[in-house]
Amino acid sequence: MDERKQLYRKNFSLVVTFLILISVSLIVAMLLAYNLTRKNVENEFISQKINVLEEVANPYNDFFQNKIPEISFYQGFLDSASARKYSDTVFLKFPFVERIVFYDAGISNHKIADGLRVNNFSLGPKAVYQFGKKVSADSILLFKNILPNTLSLKTSDEFNKMAMKFAGFIESADTSQALNDNDRYNIFYSVTARKITYMSIPRREDLRVFKDLMFKEQPPSLVYEQDLMTFHLNPYSFIIKNTHPELYQHIIIKPLVYESLENNPELISTDIPLPGAFSDYKLYLSSSKSYLTREINFRFLPIALSLLVIYGVLVFIAYLIFRNLNINSKLFKLQYDFINNLTHEFKTPVSVIKIAGNNIRSASQLSDRERNHYGKILDEEADKLNDMMNRLLSFTQIENKAIKIKEEVINLEVFCQNLIDAYQLKYPHFNITCSIQGVDHFKADPVLLGSLFQNLIDNAYKYSLTDKKELHILIKKANKNLVFRFTDQGIGIPKKELENIFKKFYRIQSQYNQQGSVGLGLAFCKELVNFMHGSIAVKSREGKGSEFKIALPFEELPVA
Ligand code: ATP
Ligand code: MG
Repeated sequence: MDERKQLYRKNFSLVVTFLILISVSLIVAMLLAYNLTRKNVENEFISQKINVLEEVANPYNDFFQNKIPEISFYQGFLDSASARKYSDTVFLKFPFVERIVFYDAGISNHKIADGLRVNNFSLGPKAVYQFGKKVSADSILLFKNILPNTLSLKTSDEFNKMAMKFAGFIESADTSQALNDNDRYNIFYSVTARKITYMSIPRREDLRVFKDLMFKEQPPSLVYEQDLMTFHLNPYSFIIKNTHPELYQHIIIKPLVYESLENNPELISTDIPLPGAFSDYKLYLSSSKSYLTREINFRFLPIALSLLVIYGVLVFIAYLIFRNLNINSKLFKLQYDFINNLTHEFKTPVSVIKIAGNNIRSASQLSDRERNHYGKILDEEADKLNDMMNRLLSFTQIENKAIKIKEEVINLEVFCQNLIDAYQLKYPHFNITCSIQGVDHFKADPVLLGSLFQNLIDNAYKYSLTDKKELHILIKKANKNLVFRFTDQGIGIPKKELENIFKKFYRIQSQYNQQGSVGLGLAFCKELVNFMHGSIAVKSREGKGSEFKIALPFEELPVA
């Protein structure tokens, strides 16, 4: 028993260790997963700004690469009206363009007022206009060449820079070859802080003409049209699209040198410079720690749930293992009891037989009376052994459902009377009465039904005091069942034992069942009743008596 307890304890501690281990693993896994998620979110906070920048810079790139070069389609023939139309489309689509200055310029080999002259090559503005939402109607025209020398330095600054670059290019241009991308960008674009100036790109034959103008002595030429535009940009008018709202709480545009004065330890920030003409500005992206924590928790939740599911499965497996071990230890106990009981029960008749044998052998002569006596003992003990073996055998058979029912129509009156007569012969002081109400025949296997009766009658006899050995059997029809009640005046069964007495090998140890009791009788009855699709129940009061009630399905017999 102690060993068994230890085994149970070992199993239990094994399962507890397993549970502790998986719980610790769960906690470690949760911590690791949380930290990894946090790292991941923090890394993304730094890296995903490129994505936001791309989205913000997209319209700028579109403007730079597609919209600005549209000026070249006009081949220099933009006038104030068409330049205004073009400007309006720019303002509509690219809100960061604030003001456009349009230089309607001319190229010739004779001098152009307010222009640039290199050798015979002259490039000068004929008129300068400005467009923009904030430009009032009277300030659209900045310069017109009918009033020479009125062009201010401020207005002509961008023009002069471009004219110098262009003249330098004409001077050394290889007009036999097409322009490469580098030249296009370097000569015809000027990108400075918040300003882009673009000069329309002339065709190759025009470039040849301009080169001739510069170096060949020719009569005064025509004035060739050329257009320039300066775009004044405002970085604060960028439309910022937050492509990662889960990471960035605020995105603003700030000068490159901006440092947040807010010394808020709760705030996490990062920045990235804007491209091209905005390169002295940056995107300033920030979030509060709690904002990021929310995102971390959001990402961590499914991981935590999966971990919990895995944990749950493991706990369930542990439970199944524990339950199995328990069942095994119970089976082990049953086996142990079985062998214990059997050896004990077999031992008594065997030792009686042995003593009788010894006596017969050692006696020099046996009188008739002694021979009779020993013969009776041997016969009785052999019967006991045989009876026990038969019970065990039928029990295993019924357990394995190896018994075949041989149903017959039983005359209940005759059936009971035969049994009572047999018992009366065996136990003359046993008072058994039987009353059968409203039924006389029952279809069942008489051997199985007899077994039920025998076990219950045996018990009623065994567990009653000598002067109270009484049993009343009542057989009655109830609904679709035939009910058998066995009521005795015996010692009764304690309440807490009522559910145990139907267990295999279970006996309430008392002076009444010292000999020949294995504790199989009621277990066998229960198996039998189940086998016959019925039920068995017990009611008992200690010192007063017990009542066993068996209900078996009753089939109405056809009237003969
Ligand atoms: P076996 O029937 O195998 O010879 P048993 O009579 O001890 O042995 P069961 O018939 O299974 O075993 O009964 C189990 C226990 O229930 C008994 O040990 C006894 O204590 C109790 N018991 C059974 N019938 C009665 C009864 N009519 N009155 C009082 N106690 C009973
Ligand atoms: Mg019994």
